[in-house]
Amino acid sequence: MLLVSGMLRDVLDGAVDLLLGGACVGCARPGRPLCAACAGQLPTSGRPAWPDPVPPGLAPPWAAGEYDGTLRAMVLAHKEHRVLALRGPLAALLAAAVAGLLDESPCGPVVLVPVPSRPGAARARGHDPTTAVTASAARLLRSGGRDVVAWPLLRSRRGVLDQSGLGATDRAANLAGSMRCPTRPLRRLAARRPRARFVVCDDVLTTGATTREAQRALESVGLTVAGVATMAATRRQFQSPDL
Ligand SMILES: [Zn+2]
Repeated sequence: MLLVSGMLRDVLDGAVDLLLGGACVGCARPGRPLCAACAGQLPTSGRPAWPDPVPPGLAPPWAAGEYDGTLRAMVLAHKEHRVLALRGPLAALLAAAVAGLLDESPCGPVVLVPVPSRPGAARARGHDPTTAVTASAARLLRSGGRDVVAWPLLRSRRGVLDQSGLGATDRAANLAGSMRCPTRPLRRLAARRPRARFVVCDDVLTTGATTREAQRALESVGLTVAGVATMAATRRQFQSPDL
């Protein structure tokens, strides 16, 4: 029922975008928020996206594509302007990154854990974009036969600043100890998925500081983090000659 109402809501959002005279976020063509031509150019598989420098101990990070052009416009339009019709295409990108990671090291039942938004950010935006896209990505992966669920297991503590504009060192300091894993959902999870491995999910991988903090919070309560998956990664992650 939840799935049906979610799908219905997405269909309605798409209809509203059309009625209000939307345009493609990639090429500005009038019509859908993502035209068929731009959709056809999106990545369909994930690849490793190690930041430079790598935060010590970071689990293998995978991303669908570079944070640029249409992909960047999609992430921003969905997150900041609530263009919810982009949720499906963004979920497909995140699912591609997760699938790449899981194909590299198959690991049984998997739980996708979205990076939590800062306290108050979801309320201000009217939605929690990363959590919503992660849930949709898990549905896509399940429909492909994989044993994957999405659980928003992490919470952000108050006092965390907006990361944009901060360098790698400041980001790490801003985030240190900023996330935690409350015990009640963990107990339910332990009962339902005792051997699960965990994948931290986020929209954009920049320095890796945010996902590393999420990984730390999960590992601090004894969970095994198999990797990190994001829809996009900033350019330098893809410049390594061995990729
Ligand atoms: Zn387009």
